[in-house]
This record gives sequence, C-alpha cells and structure tokens, in this order.
Amino acid sequence: MRLESQDARASEGVASALPTLGTTRPRVGRSWLSTYFSNDIAIDLGTANTLVSVRGETEIRSEPSVVAMRTDGHGGDRVLAVGVEAKRMLGRAPDSIRTVRPLESGVIADFTAAEFLLRHFIEVARRRRSRFFRPRVVIAVPAGITSVEKRAVRDAASAAGAREIHLIEEPMAAAIGSNLMVLEPCGSMIVDIGGGTTDIAVISLGGIVSAECVRIAGDAMDEAIRTYIKRKFELEIGEETAERIKMTVGSAWHEGPGRTMIVKGSDLIERVPKAIEVSSNDVRDAISEQVTAILRATRETLERTPAELAADLTDRGIVLTGGGAFIEGIDVLLQRETGLPITRAADPLAAVVLGCRRCLEEPELLAAVEMP
Ligand code: ADP
Ligand code: MG
Repeated sequence: MRLESQDARASEGVASALPTLGTTRPRVGRSWLSTYFSNDIAIDLGTANTLVSVRGETEIRSEPSVVAMRTDGHGGDRVLAVGVEAKRMLGRAPDSIRTVRPLESGVIADFTAAEFLLRHFIEVARRRRSRFFRPRVVIAVPAGITSVEKRAVRDAASAAGAREIHLIEEPMAAAIGSNLMVLEPCGSMIVDIGGGTTDIAVISLGGIVSAECVRIAGDAMDEAIRTYIKRKFELEIGEETAERIKMTVGSAWHEGPGRTMIVKGSDLIERVPKAIEVSSNDVRDAISEQVTAILRATRETLERTPAELAADLTDRGIVLTGGGAFIEGIDVLLQRETGLPITRAADPLAAVVLGCRRCLEEPELLAAVEMP
C-alpha cells in the first residue's frame, strides 16, 4: 500500500477548498507557549461528514467522509481523492475507481479507506501548524465500535503522526459540545440524527447509561425520497438531488401549506429530461417510515432508562444534534412521542467536534469520559 506520498498529494488539492463552519470557543489553561506550538486536533469521524478543529484556530473544517481509490493491480490501493473531491466522484466513476464511505453504517466497513480518511485530515491539520510537534488527537467514534475497529482508528492516527490518541463515543461528544452537564449525577439525553445512523443516548456521571444506534438516518431518507418520486412522478433522480430536496423542503411535520421546489430528473417511461414540483407534503409522506423508526427508537431508549434519570429528563429534555436536527417538525413529533421538552443544539452539525475540542482543553473532563 502506497500510503505516504499519494495521500499527501490527495490532501494538497482540497486543503484550500475546505468549507468553514465558523465557531469560536475561548481557550482555557496551558501557557501561551504550549498553545502556540501545539497542534492538538479534534476530529468527528462521522458517517456522512468528518469535521476537524485544530486547537487555537477558530474555524472548523467539514468534508464528506468519502475516499476515492484506484486499485493498482498489485493488491494495493492508491488514493485519488478524499473529502469534497471524492464525493464529487460518487456515482460518476469508472469501475477501476472505488468511491467509498468507510463508516457509512456506523461501523468501519473498509479499514483501508478509513485509514486514508483519518490520515488525510490529521495531515492537513498538521501541515497548517508546526510540523515538528506531534499532536494530541481526540477522535469521536461511533458508540458501538468494536475493539478491532478502535485499534484500527488508533493505528491510523498514530501512523499519521499523532502523539496521544483519545477516543470518545459520539453521543458523549455531542452532549459535551451541546453544553450538557455530562459529569453530574443527573440524566442528559441526546438524539443525534446523522447520515448513516441515528444515535440515541442517556448520559449521567460521565458515562452512557442507555443507548441505541439505529441504521436509519439521513441516507435512508434520501433513498426513500428517490423511491417516492419514482413512484408518484415516474421520475428518476440522483442521490444528490434527493438530499437537496430533503434539505430544501424537507419536513417531518408542518402546519399550513408547506413549501415547494422544482426538481429535474429523467422520465422513467420516455427517458427524457423532465421537471416536476415537489412539496413539503411529498417529503413528509416519503420519509414518514424513517421518522417513525427514529421516534420509536427514542421511546424504547427512554423505556430502558432507570426511573431516576428518566425523571431528570422531564425537566432537562432531549437535545437534538446531527444534520437531521434541521428537519422541520421533527422536534414537534419527538415532543409528542416522549412528552419531553426538545431543543436543537446551537450548532447541530458541529456539536460532536466541539465536544472533542472541549475535551482537548479540559484534561479532567477527557479523563472522565474517554473510552478505555
Ligand atoms: P454524520 O455525523 O453521520 O456524519 P451529520 O451529522 O454530518 O452526519 O449529518 C449528515 C446528514 O444530515 C446528511 O444525511 C444530510 O443530508 C443531513 N442534513 C444536513 N443538513 C440538513 C438539513 N438542513 N435538513 C435536513 N437534513 C440535513
Ligand atoms: Mg455525527
């Protein structure tokens, strides 16, 4: 496997094109000297997006968790692109190029690709700071990760030059990043609706008390929208178009007439380009099965939560994170299903990486919540 040079080259092209989410948090502790030279890195290794925050820098980088690789014919893989560039190749590449989302289902389905992904982000972050200092890295990983997967993440981070590697469970990081009091003897609850998985967790005293991970989230909704549009309008649309529909007129529940948008695709019968109008009502019908599954999993997690903690939640409620938190009306439905107050995190997409960053800044917090 030719990791070193190929990966570095792939990194180069996208480094400048990384979108910025823009978030600041005050830094605490440590002298200016160690802060200046350190390049500690917080990483949210998500199923859809990987977010990276370098300590001491204000912006957060976000790129799709996608790797494009070409098999070199000698049993090795060569990286062609990572992140934004690789996502552009999804569904458009010839057979010789593999475009993979290594964490798509919340487990590491492709170790080589996962390693490339992690190395890419650590190397880009390191290049922006002093090359001589090996960073401490805090990585949020799916809660259900196996010990083999944990080993793979640690090895990849270490190969990319990390000095210390700490792993945190994603729902825990999401809770910290949403400013919940995770160390208190009091229940906090997170529902994180991502791309591949929805992670639900009740947290108390720095640990996860009850949790559920369902493989139904944003991707499944996109697929459901495609199927619905095919059936109702006899129109074939791509994954990206389906995602855009979800983000533009997506709704789980709404009052009033809703919104509409024009969508273009290919007519199933005539095989010619066609444009139709899609409404919030269409999306609501299309994704109802996925929404119901998320509501049911949340309720089941609550039912398995010890009574004292469940009682705490009647005041503190549930915090929604992940891209799915943006879906209109999902909060209303969750409120009806559970009877609990629902709030959306201030920055749902960045909650996990913000939680990791706070752990870099507060060693006692990190020690209390990190995975063994
Ligand atoms: P992960 O942590 O699994 O990588 P994210 O939390 O980054 O996932 O969320 C990605 C998912 O959120 C994608 O399915 C994306 O389509 C969806 N998403 C992002 N923004 C919106 C939006 N405004 N409305 C609905 N869904 C959204
Ligand atoms: Mg996530």
